[in-house]
Amino acid sequence: MVYDIEFARRTPSPALNPVPEPEKTVLFIDFDNTISCGDVLDSVIERFSRSEQWRHWQAEWCAGRISTLECLQRQVGDLEVDEATLLDFVRAAPIDPDFVRLQDWAARTGARLNIVSDNFAPIVRAILARHGVELPPIYANELRFEGRRLVPSFPYRSAACRRCAHCKAVHFARCEGLRTLYVGDGLSDTCPAQRADRVFAKDSLAEFLRDAGRPFIPFSSLGDVVRRLEQDAAAAAPRPD
Ligand SMILES: [Mg+2]
Repeated sequence: MVYDIEFARRTPSPALNPVPEPEKTVLFIDFDNTISCGDVLDSVIERFSRSEQWRHWQAEWCAGRISTLECLQRQVGDLEVDEATLLDFVRAAPIDPDFVRLQDWAARTGARLNIVSDNFAPIVRAILARHGVELPPIYANELRFEGRRLVPSFPYRSAACRRCAHCKAVHFARCEGLRTLYVGDGLSDTCPAQRADRVFAKDSLAEFLRDAGRPFIPFSSLGDVVRRLEQDAAAAAPRPD
């Protein structure tokens, strides 16, 4: 099993306390199907693959027989599209309109917001720019174009993790002494979700955490996340005498 639920069950969970000091907070947020509506990378693979082999690799990955790295290397290696066409295609992807409210919350409170994605940085940047969103720090896989072929690279692999192509937990090493929040939806979010002080989860990430007996706050859209963060801030604010 690539995603080790037994390990998650054995690892102690943090308590679900309110977040008292947002300015000492780092919020990590996934991109596909968390900020974007739907999985953009899946739609790229479906649209531009030269063959149907991607379905086989996807099934192997889902069954835990190959790592995310191997799956992505094979699927991206099988794509045939030039840079302009690819970026044009992804710019049509909608995003959750409340992502801007989440950015406003971070700006207002001094919390640092970082995007961590198993997608590719040029794709994430193109979509956010198309929506006029101010770009936060983006940690993602990288992509080089050679004509109509794509060459992926994975700068955030972890030697300690056999599961992920981009092990999003590596970014927690920079967060000592800070409160960490995580927002995500998928199996590529399981490593960071086990490191964060507080997790907002939906879909397969929520299922994983539920099965592992780990605490999380369910959400269906980023509006839910913003509302909960604002409630926490109001609850933590000093009361007037
Ligand atoms: Mg996702």
